[in-house]
Amino acid sequence: MRIQEAGKLGFAVVVLGVSAAVAYSVLFRPTPADLRVIENICLNPKCGAEFQMEQREMDRKMKARESITCPKCGSVDTESAHRCGNCGKLNRAVGHGSAPPACAFCKKPWTFAPLRK
Ligand SMILES: [Zn+2]
Ligand SMILES: [Zn+2]
Repeated sequence: MRIQEAGKLGFAVVVLGVSAAVAYSVLFRPTPADLRVIENICLNPKCGAEFQMEQREMDRKMKARESITCPKCGSVDTESAHRCGNCGKLNRAVGHGSAPPACAFCKKPWTFAPLRK
């Protein structure tokens, strides 16, 4: 067990971290994480299809080391993307799946589009 090795201090840090994570998820993530729908774009230049996949399906594929394939052309060259709240276009994620600071299309500071169900 990691908690026992880390001792009481480590345990306190873990508890704090978990509380913060729970508070964050309650405040900012009204939709259960595994029901969220992730937007993806196909990076095949001849295709460029946009498609959606449930978070839990993405997680399952990642665990199984399965590729996320484009439903249109079958390319494995796909990437998760974020939909701009201003112009509604899909922007490729930057860094570790984060939204860009500003939309690449309308150039406005980033706002998330409301999640679709
Ligand atoms: Zn494609
Ligand atoms: Zn935009």
